[in-house]
Amino acid sequence: MNSPTKPEDQIGLLDPAVVASAVVAPVVPTFNAHVRLRPIGLLRSRIEGGLWADRCRINREVTIPHGAAQLEAAGNLFNFRLAAGGSGSYRGGDDDSGSMAPFLDSDVHKWLEAVGWELAQRPDPAISALAEPMIDLVAKAQRGDGYVDTFYQVAHPGKEFTDLEWGHELYVAGHLVQAAVAWKRGLGDDRLLRIAERFVARIEAELGPGKRELVCGHPEFEMALVELYRTTGEARYLELARILIERRGRGLLGKCRHGARYWQDHEPVRTAPEPTGHAVRQMYLDCGVVDVAVETGDKELLEAAIRRWESMVSSRTYVNGGLGAHHRDEAFGDAFELPPDRAYGETCAAIGSVMLSWRLLLATGESRFADLIERTAFNAVLPALAFDGSHFFYSNPLMRRSVGAEVLEGAATTRRAKWFAIACCPPNLMRFLASFPDLLTTADDNGIQLHQFATGSFEAPVKSGMVRVATKTGYPWDGDVEISIDESVAEPWTFSIRVPDWCSTAAARLGGTETLAESGPGTIELTRTWRAGDRVVLSLAMPPRATFPDPRIDSVRGTIALERGPLVYALEDADLPVGKSVESLEVESSPQLEAVTTSEPGLGELTWLSLDAEVRDDPAMPSWPYESQPATTVAAKKTKIRALPYFAWGNRAGLGMRIWLPTRTRKGDD
Ligand SMILES: [Zn+2]
Repeated sequence: MNSPTKPEDQIGLLDPAVVASAVVAPVVPTFNAHVRLRPIGLLRSRIEGGLWADRCRINREVTIPHGAAQLEAAGNLFNFRLAAGGSGSYRGGDDDSGSMAPFLDSDVHKWLEAVGWELAQRPDPAISALAEPMIDLVAKAQRGDGYVDTFYQVAHPGKEFTDLEWGHELYVAGHLVQAAVAWKRGLGDDRLLRIAERFVARIEAELGPGKRELVCGHPEFEMALVELYRTTGEARYLELARILIERRGRGLLGKCRHGARYWQDHEPVRTAPEPTGHAVRQMYLDCGVVDVAVETGDKELLEAAIRRWESMVSSRTYVNGGLGAHHRDEAFGDAFELPPDRAYGETCAAIGSVMLSWRLLLATGESRFADLIERTAFNAVLPALAFDGSHFFYSNPLMRRSVGAEVLEGAATTRRAKWFAIACCPPNLMRFLASFPDLLTTADDNGIQLHQFATGSFEAPVKSGMVRVATKTGYPWDGDVEISIDESVAEPWTFSIRVPDWCSTAAARLGGTETLAESGPGTIELTRTWRAGDRVVLSLAMPPRATFPDPRIDSVRGTIALERGPLVYALEDADLPVGKSVESLEVESSPQLEAVTTSEPGLGELTWLSLDAEVRDDPAMPSWPYESQPATTVAAKKTKIRALPYFAWGNRAGLGMRIWLPTRTRKGDD
């Protein structure tokens, strides 16, 4: 047993702001916050092997350096040089509308945030060398009055705070604050924090308490302000976040071309019953809502966020956890409006969903939030990053047609792109992966909670000292997780383990033999006097399964999705007989599924699902695709096909892909 010596070991003994800054994580509620669970942070929650370790390594070695090069090539850094006194014209913009984008600075800030979390975990001279000049540049670009937003400094001087609807000034400031928090918490480096606080002071002078009543069209600043409060202990930042949240939904932004629901300004956040409009905005807004609610003890505000989360999950979330059914306004659709081929599923919305669920998990301790984090992380965030680490999806459809597929550029890219004119998603992925290990475990006064499964180790202060635990698993391919207690305390404590919502049978066995608990979905709680050397084997049954959509999701009625463990599967052209397309097949509604693990060039080792399908000889194009009778049977051959984890799609040649597989509906077949 260790006696607490380091400041971060003394959780509960220190001033709230100090406690908040001692844990290295993006979200660190103060000691006074009304939360059920506490993060243990990136320095104490480590992933050391398996799928996530691999993706985090690629992020560090490939994606983050790639991001720095792209920020240079796309002009984001050039704009900072202009603001710092260089000559030239503002660069970068929206390739759809031809107008200049006002939020390019935020990509630099998000990249810096990713680097802050990354360097906190391990020094990396190459990444540091990329980051140092960027920090200098942001410092040099800041005006004497604290203002730093190159779009207004360079392209629209004198127009600051005149277009809160579309100008994204507070959004940009929010990302600067989050980068500053990462560098302060992770590295004790307050250079960005000083810049961010001066910018926030400038914003406060404009629209703080008693000033002009304004809100930003794109939420983000609110959650950043709460984290700034948690880092500095300055209560006025929390108050500004609270005010901005209360101002929303009162028509300050007006209707815009998509209506007030687009930017969640149609109804106050306390009463708005469902998620609406632009999905990323809704997610970021509700992150701030939860942050303010837990810091101020505002139960009504927290319940409002939970209500919207429940509404989102019940009828506006894709099977992979993706959000956003509309391309036009990057928005939530109506209830059950979830078209697979036209899914928007923006990468940032999936990341925002994880950020929101994480806050709700900390606030409530309820495993349903960790369930959605798992589904979304594996199946809606990971697919956005190519296996090569340097190509990205912005929108993530659940089906891409192989016949007549339009090859699209921009946000709706048919293939992953190396960057975008509006590049919110790539650096968001970078900060997500750089801080991902934080999502695995939490602690409370009674013990430790294991929410996500990976090979790694973690430690947390429990009762009178530190508890250290190691995990070993082949997850997500294998449902066994070996948990070793490496160090414990004299008192009994509770080890809580999430049993995922997809898992019907789970067991925890001491030493692999003595059954401690058996459970369905929910939480296994093991309270005992744990001793160093204790070993628990958690077994999560993960047979392959077919999943049926609610019949009200018309666009996928009569289809099934394939899943195994936490993974959603997809079928690609590349795995069909030559010349056949994903449009031309049907499967049994309860097919025999077999899990097969293989290693293949370009994909590495994956567990596939194999099943029988009837693949039709469809004509290339019909003369008219409607008939007065149910479709005539076209010759079909029974063929063995295989599906791969959806996160791995689009890494080979071929266009077609689908998650939802049509089931046999012809008369007499059932
Ligand atoms: Zn995005």
